[in-house]
Amino acid sequence: IDNFISCTLHFTGNSFKLNSTFVIPNTKLFINGKFVSSQTEEWIDLHNPSTNEVINRVPKSTKTEMEDAVSSAKETYKSWCKTSPLHRQKIMFKYQNIIKNNLEKLAKTITEEQGKTLSDAEGDVFRGLQVVEYCCNIPSLLMGETLSNVTKDMDIHSYRVPIGVTAGIAPFNFPAMIPLWMFPVAAVCGNTCVIKPSEKDPGACMMLMEMFNEAGAPPGLVNVIHGTNDAVNFICDHPDIKAISFVGSDIAGKHVYERGCKNGKRVQSNMGAKNHGVVLPDANKVRSINQIIGAAFGAAGQRCMALSTLILVGETKNWLSELKEKSQKLKIGYGGDPNVDVGPVISPQAKQRILKLIQSGIDEGASILLDGRNITVPGYEDGNFIGPTILINVQPHMQCYKEEIFGPVLICLTADTLDEAITIINANPYGNGTALFTTNGAYARKFTNEVDCGQIGINVPIPVPLSIFSFTGSRGSFQGDLHFYGKQAICFYTETKTVTQLWNEIDTEEENTTSMPTI
Ligand code: NAD
Repeated sequence: IDNFISCTLHFTGNSFKLNSTFVIPNTKLFINGKFVSSQTEEWIDLHNPSTNEVINRVPKSTKTEMEDAVSSAKETYKSWCKTSPLHRQKIMFKYQNIIKNNLEKLAKTITEEQGKTLSDAEGDVFRGLQVVEYCCNIPSLLMGETLSNVTKDMDIHSYRVPIGVTAGIAPFNFPAMIPLWMFPVAAVCGNTCVIKPSEKDPGACMMLMEMFNEAGAPPGLVNVIHGTNDAVNFICDHPDIKAISFVGSDIAGKHVYERGCKNGKRVQSNMGAKNHGVVLPDANKVRSINQIIGAAFGAAGQRCMALSTLILVGETKNWLSELKEKSQKLKIGYGGDPNVDVGPVISPQAKQRILKLIQSGIDEGASILLDGRNITVPGYEDGNFIGPTILINVQPHMQCYKEEIFGPVLICLTADTLDEAITIINANPYGNGTALFTTNGAYARKFTNEVDCGQIGINVPIPVPLSIFSFTGSRGSFQGDLHFYGKQAICFYTETKTVTQLWNEIDTEEENTTSMPTI
């Protein structure tokens, strides 16, 4: 058990005594198909959010290590880009199977490092696995277009080619799913990759590398570096990296988009959100309330698609007492306990930021309907727990409305009509997701047409599209042109070559011309 325990055996006269010391393990780098120890002198402590004990140390990769990762990806690209899509497909089939068989193991690591409940962590892996399954269809997905006889004896066809070394920068909240949005798609399109997982929970990503090796990925196809701003800036500036996929907060996402684009790279940047749920009086009350609770407080509100803002239309404001009653029944605690519904938030700093936003809402005139601020979990007194919290009478000018809270806090506004609710949503700068709860098809259609968000749910509180579609957040939640996974990701990770060819008997009567050919 590398790094875990150091044992010393002492002879004490007539018996041996075993002394064991817990040594905090170090996260390795993954370069050229091998797990290597970093030579850095700068390490980041990784805490279990339920206890705040240090359970791992993550290196800030040195410049040389990061260069090695890119060089390995660049070298492997030379041969990998020539492999057939069927060969890549075979690796993906194996990979899909290996991940499926290790789903629980991955989920356990996620729960320890990130805090979410085990069943939620399994969902994290499962949604990433679906992208791998999508990648198994790569031969069809890479097919181009053909038109024969565009003029006499002339045909045109186009096909997709890889772009080179790509990079992925991931956030902490989906440690398996989001890296899986990135490197499998880049790889099946014929690219190689450098991934920088979140420094807060890289464990699942490292396990996914081991599994990729086992599936037959050649050394250098995917490499993993660790760190924070310096590693991100290294990726943005490196001339051999052609494209960057980023998922995370606004501040980092805008920075990566601007710096990467300035350096001539293709960048897709998924950022923060403020997802509104709208409840109409005709909605099914029990189902809607259950769905809202799950979507607001699940994963302790740390999902970019969390339904963090509720607009109660008309008489549905009378549903608040039932919403409160059911929300306070959720069990808060260590995510590994199967009875727990809501785990901790990622860090003491995140907890403080969330508490500050709740207080700002109260100071600005909102009322607290359910207060989860002073919660203690027996046996986990040092964990970063906040119980489900509901703020009512919230107005759009308040800080708690304007900022993404990213915690188990539901803020509630009211509106007299659906039109008013749509106006509120469209005035908010974010455009990640939204949901309408109704039994009226005409209202659903109006909402779908008029609301300006990339992902819309009708009686679906977290409308994250399946991997055959794309994750289509818009406005302040996204910068770039082409989205993650689905067909758009195939376009992101490839360029198109278009070939126009003329095959006929040479006509000796042909004359030269200096005019623009009109075909
Ligand atoms: P984060 O921005 O702090 O970290 C994301 C990545 O950027 C990490 O790898 C981190 O090391 C790096 N980073 C952080 N600050 C940086 C800086 N100043 N300069 C350069 N790099 C930096 O995000 P997080 O806290 O890990 O994740 C939560 C955020 O991610 C939330 O805002 C959430 O909405 C968003 N998110 C969005 C989506 C989406 O698809 N829209 C999905 C998941 C999470």
